[in-house]
Amino acid sequence: MISMRDMRTRAALLIGLVLMLAGLAFAADAPTCTECGKPIERDAFQTQGRIYHPDCFVCEICERPISGSYSEQKGNVYHNDCFLDRVALKCSLCNDVLRGEYLQDYWGNSYCKRHDGEAPMCDSCGRFVSEKLTGGGTRYEDGRFICNICKPESMTDVDAILEIVYEVAEHMKTFGMEVDYNGIQIHLIGRDKMQTLSGHHSNGLRGFTDYREDWRVFGRSQNRKMHIFLLYGMPRMEIINTVAHELAHVWQFNRARFNNDKAWSEGSCNYAAFLVLGKYPGKESSFFRTSLTRDVDPVYGDGFRRVKTLAESEGHRAWLRYLSKSSDFPKGY
Ligand SMILES: [Zn+2]
Ligand SMILES: [Zn+2]
Ligand SMILES: [Zn+2]
Ligand SMILES: [Zn+2]
Ligand SMILES: [Zn+2]
Repeated sequence: MISMRDMRTRAALLIGLVLMLAGLAFAADAPTCTECGKPIERDAFQTQGRIYHPDCFVCEICERPISGSYSEQKGNVYHNDCFLDRVALKCSLCNDVLRGEYLQDYWGNSYCKRHDGEAPMCDSCGRFVSEKLTGGGTRYEDGRFICNICKPESMTDVDAILEIVYEVAEHMKTFGMEVDYNGIQIHLIGRDKMQTLSGHHSNGLRGFTDYREDWRVFGRSQNRKMHIFLLYGMPRMEIINTVAHELAHVWQFNRARFNNDKAWSEGSCNYAAFLVLGKYPGKESSFFRTSLTRDVDPVYGDGFRRVKTLAESEGHRAWLRYLSKSSDFPKGY
């Protein structure tokens, strides 16, 4: 899910004062206008310690003089009406002008804070599901919402998803993570079953890998089965993201390191997904990469950032060498 950021609006409502200075003589030492620099001999508009000819203090939008209260943003001034009409940030859901704290999603939409928890949010892209913004959406049986921007990309065919597994595995080879995906089976399940299977009661969980082997001979597993469980109905790029993460678990499992420190193991899986997503151009993959980067979770988020620092300073080969040999981060990371 996208991290929502509260931001403080920069719009401030200011009161200006009109000083009627008519009739006063400023022959010699008349004050000068902040805007045009010429002396002010009759009427003046004064605000925030500065003084202007009434015709020199003008609205940025309509270019007509301002004589009463006005709005200011980023150094520009506006009639209040012009500001509300043309400049003020408005809620992408209800069109109210946003003041104080508001929410913002990755796609550039801003929302009133009150919609948080009130309007359904797309489980994949983090947009609020609404007719106006996403053309509506669907509620899956397990309670997740998917918007109509993501829905056409959702995949339901296991064979088509297996094609993605092979494609992702090819991408992983390019940075040295060679995954043996023989015998891998894909299962599409709902959120409840995902939580039961994995033992993690987090709504953020999209995939889970179950390893079963009947016996081991000289350290080699026999009759091994890998089951990758994915939430059903996810759009293609989210499947790519999730499959890459799960295949990185498989890679770790194949090297008999399944008791790794959680931040080390999950952080490495997220970093592998980050690298795979980098092979796909476009806004969807950037969205998922950004979500990985901004994840505040101490295991998935911090783990990812620590692995990224390690891999970027010592190289991918070194990261994978540590990962296959050691159950925790090397010293210094
Ligand atoms: Zn002036
Ligand atoms: Zn105006
Ligand atoms: Zn609103
Ligand atoms: Zn969506
Ligand atoms: Zn994981």
